[in-house]
Amino acid sequence: MAEEAKKALPPNGGYPMHTYEDLKEVFYPYIKNPADRQMIEKAYLFAAEKHKDQKRRSGEPYIQHPLEVAYILATLQSGPATIASGFLHDVVEDTDTTIEDIEKNFGEDVAKIVDSLTKIQRLKLSKRTEVDFEAEDHRKIFLGMAKDVRVILVKLADRLHNLRTLASLNPDRQKALSKETLEVFTPIAHRLGINTIQSEMEDLCLKYLEPEKYQRILDLVNERTTHRKQSLESVKKRVADILFEQNIPFRMESRVKSIYSLYRKMYQKGHSIDDIFDILAIRIITETERNCYEILGVIHQTYKPIPGRFKDYIAMPKPNLYQSLHTSVVAGDGQTYEFQIRTEEMDRVAETGVAAHWKYKESGHYNAKEEQREIEEQLHWFRDFVSMSGQQEGSAKEYMDALTSDVFEANVYVFTPMGKVIDLPNGSTPLDFAYRIHTRVGDQAIGAVVNGMGVPLNTVLKTGDICEIRTSKNAPGPNEGWLEIAKTASAKSHIRKALQKRDAEILKVERVKSGKQSAIDAFRMQGVEEEEMEHLLNSPKVLNEYHCETLDDLYVMMNAKNPTPGAVIDFLGIKRRKATFDMEKMQKASNKQTKIKTDNSPIEVAGGVSHLAVALSQCCTPIPGDDIVGYITKGKGITIHRRNCPNVIHETKRLIDAKWRENLPIATYPVDIEIYANDRANLLADVLSTLATKNISVTELKAKLITQTMNDVFTMTVHVPDAKVLEDTFALLMGVKGVYSVERVVH
Ligand code: MN
Repeated sequence: MAEEAKKALPPNGGYPMHTYEDLKEVFYPYIKNPADRQMIEKAYLFAAEKHKDQKRRSGEPYIQHPLEVAYILATLQSGPATIASGFLHDVVEDTDTTIEDIEKNFGEDVAKIVDSLTKIQRLKLSKRTEVDFEAEDHRKIFLGMAKDVRVILVKLADRLHNLRTLASLNPDRQKALSKETLEVFTPIAHRLGINTIQSEMEDLCLKYLEPEKYQRILDLVNERTTHRKQSLESVKKRVADILFEQNIPFRMESRVKSIYSLYRKMYQKGHSIDDIFDILAIRIITETERNCYEILGVIHQTYKPIPGRFKDYIAMPKPNLYQSLHTSVVAGDGQTYEFQIRTEEMDRVAETGVAAHWKYKESGHYNAKEEQREIEEQLHWFRDFVSMSGQQEGSAKEYMDALTSDVFEANVYVFTPMGKVIDLPNGSTPLDFAYRIHTRVGDQAIGAVVNGMGVPLNTVLKTGDICEIRTSKNAPGPNEGWLEIAKTASAKSHIRKALQKRDAEILKVERVKSGKQSAIDAFRMQGVEEEEMEHLLNSPKVLNEYHCETLDDLYVMMNAKNPTPGAVIDFLGIKRRKATFDMEKMQKASNKQTKIKTDNSPIEVAGGVSHLAVALSQCCTPIPGDDIVGYITKGKGITIHRRNCPNVIHETKRLIDAKWRENLPIATYPVDIEIYANDRANLLADVLSTLATKNISVTELKAKLITQTMNDVFTMTVHVPDAKVLEDTFALLMGVKGVYSVERVVH
């Protein structure tokens, strides 16, 4: 190439510029129907007219691009609609042409393909750099929008030609497009078995992404192959001679492994170029499968095969339908060669993959039934594409249906505000989207914002929509209607679960209420009031016994009479202590004792003021043995307080000396006390039974659990004859495990 041509970019990236006549030479041999040929020509003329005032960045008339795309498609033996779409793929996006124009001129089939291509074009995947897409997302979007393998073919051809002419773009765009191609397009080309496009794309991308490594590998390959040229020719000649002799039909070509595949082996797998057996491969193409195995036999008799290198892809085709026999051998001079042996048909499939299969669908040489059978058989490549778990055994029809609904038709691709792609079945709504993000987002959804606009939850989402879910902690949550709105099975199942959970909660509240009431009734019969009952029941001992986590659970169980409240009462051993704290009875008794008439008063008041009524104060509940003082209340008499009672301690004028009589009648006096203890099972029962052993009756019992500290505070009125007994009682109570303080209460 001349120096000046290198500087000025070569037209069409240095590739031959094809004409429409060149194209005809490629497709006329296999597209023979005059109507099909006419349609292709019409598409060419239509596109040429529409793009006539446009030029490519590299300077050629724009039509050169669609023409090259159509040419690439024809070399893949694509059908007429595909080639026509190749011509028309940019007219809707880049000119004033509408899809309706395309449909009017070229029919629905071509219009659909061009429509999909236009939509993909508008998505401009590689320009969405502000959003960090996963390569897999790109593939999903692309496949979801493609819907028809012919769309993919045109898009691949379009991308290939753009890569060939990439030199006209700036280095950043070159790298971005190359990277995207390797992440999105070449894996698709590989899976569709379109080897020619895949390897050309890979080499072009490598050239832009790793120019130095690319050049280094190219130099190494040239060095090795030049060096081995003679050896190669002699191997080829020897094999050819034997095949002629044995009358086996064949043609032979040799190829150098693609630069990109060498790059992967050297730079990603760490092989040295000398370790790579198949830099040079000799391909032998013959007529029948039987011939393939015969040729393999000849090669293995002539050269020593390398163990482990023989692969029978005829018996076991690759998922993309690739078939061939592969073997590597050592030639007489110690050089290694890979042989690939296949039939013409296998070769065609290996080079053009699904593109070749599609030919039959379009060309109409088969009757409808035959055509359907053919497509179904040829679509095995898709097994690798879609996870078809559990469906492999299905009929071809089911397989096609699943394929269509799962991949080509079904999906819409919706973006989160952060740019993550969520794929959903066609017809999905923001509810499906919400539940796909998180169950909580779904359950708390109150509305959606799609492309910046508030929309109802039953809005149908489209590919490319940016969806945001409005949530609220106070959201009313799922209702029956949501089951109609949601499209995906998983959202429906979450909604059903939420509805069931809510029903269960309502039911539980009722059961707790009714179980608790039956417990209250049963415990009251035993003299235990609600508050104490709750305290007794809400202990680890009881809850563990009945395998409940909460008291509510126990009430639910008691509601079902399993256990009955009676059984729980027995378990607590409450009946035995019934007499010990028969509250009502003792309450009456203590009320009688609080007021004492002066005539049999236990108190002697100074100065013999005996005409006044003397009463024991309610605030400090003095008992015999306490140091006491009288307080004169106008018109009411004298109230006896403990001398250190805070209510009288600062009084000076209205106090009067008082003391307990010497020989008191046998009686008990109420004293309010507080017991502080660390909570444990059976604590209250132990406190009460301790009091019972001293025949001390209890009234006004209150139990409080301080949950933060797990401390119990029992407030009660005990009835004791005097301060000495009270003191002994305190000592006994302090001996109860868990109790850390016992005090008299002053109100
Ligand atoms: Mn294009």
